[in-house]
Amino acid sequence: MGAHTSKIQAVLTAKCPKCRVGKMFVGNTYSFKKQRMNDVCPYCGFRFEIEPGYFYAAMYVSYVLSVGQVLAAGLLTYQISKSESPWVYLGVLMATILIFAPFNFRYSRLILLHYLTPKVKYDPKYEDALGDDRP
Ligand SMILES: [Zn+2]
Repeated sequence: MGAHTSKIQAVLTAKCPKCRVGKMFVGNTYSFKKQRMNDVCPYCGFRFEIEPGYFYAAMYVSYVLSVGQVLAAGLLTYQISKSESPWVYLGVLMATILIFAPFNFRYSRLILLHYLTPKVKYDPKYEDALGDDRP
């Protein structure tokens, strides 16, 4: 019997919330290709968009993530540069939003599915069925 993937591990590796085996996204977070999410889990067939418009809620999660990142980047910029120019902070703000956009796209959906949707339940039977040879 193989070990089970923890929730945090599943989120960090962008796995399906139901089986924690199949990948939710195609390709890497940072690449020159457009981000693509699988419609259904390639392993267990779970449909990620559990109801129409479900991922609109991910925008709020993404917003919260962005605010945190912008604040952290702003504070860090102040610590390093002690600058009081609004243009410096505006530049940092824009750069932070751009740099984190692919990350937030991916992790807002993962957080929404894994942590904020109680009806989406992890089912360990899929990992049990794998045994020790994982894909
Ligand atoms: Zn799955």
